[in-house]
Amino acid sequence: MLFLSHVYGVVPSRRLGRSLGVCTIPFKTCDYACVYCQLGRTTNMTNTRQTFYPPEEILSEAREFIEAHGEESFDVVTVVGEGEPTLFKPLDAIVRGLREMTGKPLVLITNGSLLFDRELVEEIKDFDIVMPTLDAKDEESFKRINRPFGKLTYEKVYKGLLDFSKEFKGEIWLEVMLVKDYNDSDRFLGELKNRIELLGPARVYINVPARPPAEENVEIPEEETLRYARALLKAESIEELPVSSFTTSEKKSLDAVIEIIKRHPMSENDIKSFVESQFNDEFVVDLLKRLNKNPNVEKNSYRGKVFYRYILAGRRSGG
Ligand code: SF4
Repeated sequence: MLFLSHVYGVVPSRRLGRSLGVCTIPFKTCDYACVYCQLGRTTNMTNTRQTFYPPEEILSEAREFIEAHGEESFDVVTVVGEGEPTLFKPLDAIVRGLREMTGKPLVLITNGSLLFDRELVEEIKDFDIVMPTLDAKDEESFKRINRPFGKLTYEKVYKGLLDFSKEFKGEIWLEVMLVKDYNDSDRFLGELKNRIELLGPARVYINVPARPPAEENVEIPEEETLRYARALLKAESIEELPVSSFTTSEKKSLDAVIEIIKRHPMSENDIKSFVESQFNDEFVVDLLKRLNKNPNVEKNSYRGKVFYRYILAGRRSGG
């Protein structure tokens, strides 16, 4: 059954190479509701870590994929979520299980909000790379950009990240999402730089809201600002590869597109080139019609393009 699938990809990325995604949580379960979230508004807001699925259920899908496609089909395994993956526990069972299946590096993509939790830090210590996010510099910007759950405070989250940075043996690659008029002023970037320097990550990446965000007033900063930010933060940009270069284990083009838009909204053109390159499918128009009728698919316009993204039926995600 497609919507229970925990394995996603393989997704090509300039940072990681070909990445096999392993998803540990149900759709849009998160302790943040970031204004820029490309998955739309958070529908399951929580900061309670839970065993959403038996670890073996997740691992058996990964095993099935690796047996079918071979280890040579990917470069890294990325634990991600359609929300925040560290809300799943026990993550160490996932790490151990994946290590038995592959010698490829294991990467965790996280918003970094729960790194103050000792139990979590213990569970993720054997990842090779952890990629947390830091968009805010203080309580006010944290509430404005990330809109965290309940009593989660900036100082608590930042301190967790700081302590984790000191003890983690693998590499930390920090990601900063820059949003026009939220966190892109010279003064803001200067203060963020000081925060980042204290963390001393191995790499810093700057991302921008390239896909439809959760909130309408979210925009990409000016190119000049991005150039300045990259130089100041000694960061690289995240340049995305075309979606048509994704590969999929799904047999039907419609299932494959839905599998992707659960994590990664696609424009109409993305869908056309993906389907044409992966399936030689001549019926793209038909597929778009079926997507339009699907109650789990939402269509919206952003920066002059029409995008498709996954939603829980009956719940508009905003944007
Ligand atoms: S961007 Fe990530 S952390 Fe923010 S709301 Fe979306 S899933 Fe959660």
